[in-house]
Amino acid sequence: MPEITPKYYNEFSCLGEKCEETCCQGWVISVDKNTFEKYESSKDVMFKKNSYFNKMPEPTDSFHGIIKMKKDGFCPFLNGKNLCSIQKSYGENYLSSTCKTFPRRNIKYSNNQNIRTLSMACPEAARLCLTTDDAMKIFEDNYYEKKNYIEIVPKQSRDSHNIVGEKLFNKTFSLLKDNNIPLTNILFVTEQFLNEQANLAIHQDKFENVTKHLVDELIPINIVNFDNSFFKLGFLEDIFCFVNNLTYDNKSNEKFKFILKNVYDDLVTKFKNFDDATVNFNRSLKIFNKFEEKNQIYRKLFQNEILSHAQIFTNTTPFCRNRFYITIFSAAISKLISISRISNNDGMINLEDLIEPIQKVAKHHGLFLEFYKNMEYKFNDKILNSLNKIDRNNVFNSVLFLFH
Ligand code: SF4
Repeated sequence: MPEITPKYYNEFSCLGEKCEETCCQGWVISVDKNTFEKYESSKDVMFKKNSYFNKMPEPTDSFHGIIKMKKDGFCPFLNGKNLCSIQKSYGENYLSSTCKTFPRRNIKYSNNQNIRTLSMACPEAARLCLTTDDAMKIFEDNYYEKKNYIEIVPKQSRDSHNIVGEKLFNKTFSLLKDNNIPLTNILFVTEQFLNEQANLAIHQDKFENVTKHLVDELIPINIVNFDNSFFKLGFLEDIFCFVNNLTYDNKSNEKFKFILKNVYDDLVTKFKNFDDATVNFNRSLKIFNKFEEKNQIYRKLFQNEILSHAQIFTNTTPFCRNRFYITIFSAAISKLISISRISNNDGMINLEDLIEPIQKVAKHHGLFLEFYKNMEYKFNDKILNSLNKIDRNNVFNSVLFLFH
């Protein structure tokens, strides 16, 4: 089975010292067992400062230790030019897999079946993916363009659940490419696809009828037909307070807190009351909605994230679907940041006002999340409480209302 990549993946090259971002700043860098042992046994003085490493209390092969970041959030191995001194002295193969791969993401369906994408947390990856015309054309082995159907599950691993999942993934992916369908409706249809997946796995002969019915019924409707700016500003207040109350041990998270504080000031505290803030918000939202480029940018963002998390459709792992909700949640926060820029900029907006917020949120959305034991993500309880204020019974509805 082939390697599947979007076109922009193969065009990526790290900006190195020209990059305004240090990719690892503010992160927890895990070190796999082999690398950990290599560093620990090295005679090089750079590795002798063992305080840089913490061995995990219950180490596994892939998560054996972490590199302890300095107080300012920077990796202790960065040199004066913010380049990695391990890579400089020993080459890429000496790095832990986390450092070696970022911003590359890989879903491995079998030994030779991979889906490779890039994380939007890297500014160069975000620029390439979100602003290049045919960035999300899909290629097999970097050569054959996949025009109609993308096979993601290898033949030997096929079962009724993932056969249907692969078809649903393809339906979603092609809807996302259709500029005439509102994005909110596509996300809504995708959620209904996933709700029907178990039934469709039993009644595969009904697949075309059921999916066509869902598309025909749900694409034309007006999903959010009321002014929900009140929810959005209330949610902004909640996430700002949440991030503001976290204790940070690095500058990168502090910077993100500062970004959210500015957004909160520009959209809420600057105004005498919530009603005035709502009027301003709706005015800025209108300008955002008229900005043509936003359609392509968000469509490409969702295509990239759906491809990067294709296991939403194929795995039966509990809570895997949270990845879908987290993608919408992150897009909603990015959009709030863009709207605050419009509000603060006399109604002006440019591409950077969309791309940069998406990159910043991709880099920091971990602040809002926690891990389950099976390494699936979930929302932090406080964030979940805040989402429950929008729709108490349905996280998907809450994140969709926020994004709309
Ligand atoms: S953020 Fe991206 S471009 Fe910048 S140094 Fe890291 S990988 Fe390179």
